[in-house]
Amino acid sequence: LAQHYLARIRQSDLNAFLHVDEALTLQQAAAADQRIARGDHTALTGIPIAHKDIFVTQGWRSTAGSKMLENYVSPFDASVVEQFNAAGTVTLGKLNCDEFAMGSSNENSFFGPVKNPWDKKAVPGGSSGGSGAAVAARLAPAATGTDTGGSIRQPASLCGITGIKPTYGRVSRFGMIAFASSLDQGGPMAQTAEDCALLLNAMAGFDPRDSTSVERPNEDFTRDLDKSLRGLKIGVPKEYFGPGLAADVEQAVRAALKEYEKLGATLVEISLPKTELSIPVYYVIAPAEASSNLSRFDGVRYGHRARDYTDLNDMYRKTRSEGFGDEVKRRILVGAYVLSHGYYDAYYLQAQKIRRLIAQDFQDAFKQCDVIMGPVSPTVAWDLGDKADDPVANYLGDIFTLSTSLAGLPGMSIPCGFGQGEKNAQRPVGLQLIGNYFNEAKLLNIAHQYQ
Ligand code: GLN
Repeated sequence: LAQHYLARIRQSDLNAFLHVDEALTLQQAAAADQRIARGDHTALTGIPIAHKDIFVTQGWRSTAGSKMLENYVSPFDASVVEQFNAAGTVTLGKLNCDEFAMGSSNENSFFGPVKNPWDKKAVPGGSSGGSGAAVAARLAPAATGTDTGGSIRQPASLCGITGIKPTYGRVSRFGMIAFASSLDQGGPMAQTAEDCALLLNAMAGFDPRDSTSVERPNEDFTRDLDKSLRGLKIGVPKEYFGPGLAADVEQAVRAALKEYEKLGATLVEISLPKTELSIPVYYVIAPAEASSNLSRFDGVRYGHRARDYTDLNDMYRKTRSEGFGDEVKRRILVGAYVLSHGYYDAYYLQAQKIRRLIAQDFQDAFKQCDVIMGPVSPTVAWDLGDKADDPVANYLGDIFTLSTSLAGLPGMSIPCGFGQGEKNAQRPVGLQLIGNYFNEAKLLNIAHQYQ
């Protein structure tokens, strides 16, 4: 298996992988073979997997898509990587992503954009664009991703694969290079919900090294896959089907909802009235946390350091000017601004209050339904370059994924057809499934029944 995927990676021109080390991969594969021969294997032993370059790994560089960490090698593995290694998976390498996971098209990577395998002119989505493209192009059967405001669900949608962002706190953030700590959550990306369930079994679990890790007994996320959906109440938020939604995406999503009715579910119209506010709220809170998290990249401890400088302040300034890309700098500036004296109350505190109300919207909705469904992205994948210089256009495209993250709820994307976009192409559409806290097994069941 490892040889098969390594050969495919070698031939690929998608720029999905940033680092491969075939010898290391084959060494892990040989160890997995031995484990299987001894009979002490898990369901994932010998299964190749690739990690988003946000997870630190001992054997491979960990860049977070940034020049700042271009040559950084971590002295330890992220908990998620450690857990996969313990299960016996075989690492194929590290996957391209937007710099520090900031973006929705993978065009913010220092190492260049990733191409969407369905149409190489198109973006794969982001920030886990390398993960989406690698799984869709069968360069890896599974990949890890992280989702702060949609970065698992949106590339899964744009690349026509399945991805789940678990409840905040389910998957350890230890060794996941931090973007916005109150939102960041790792999760699996694969072909099917069944695969995602198996992967989540290895990925989730309490970790004392992550202060916001949730202490709950381990679960078998495959346990409900085969349950019938008869009687399931699906909430369809009217705010997710407004004028901003492209007709081709709406058509595919509505067709999927019809399929669910055939499986015995009923549709209930619900309202998530604060949906629109999720954009300003997220783009205050996420940059605020990022400005704090990224202060550690100062040229002293990690990664890049400017060559010529006059004193310490000059070293900081030059290091950060050279090491960070435009989007990262933009977020540090916004974040520092909204946290500064005089603006904190007006922006940051206000955003925190609305965040609470957004979470409350969902709790009100879950009184009427078991799961919420709608689109992941308002459009299918757009062409590389089309929105590259327009940050606000990118931010607006996150409208359907941000509120789930702000509320800390689990969300999923499953493929539900194709749309033509503006370019008369065939590009995948994803259906979003949003569940209440810790309802991952239910979401995976609902997704599996459709697939
Ligand atoms: N597109 C969003 C952003 O740029 C979400 C990214 C993410 O989930 N990591 O912040």
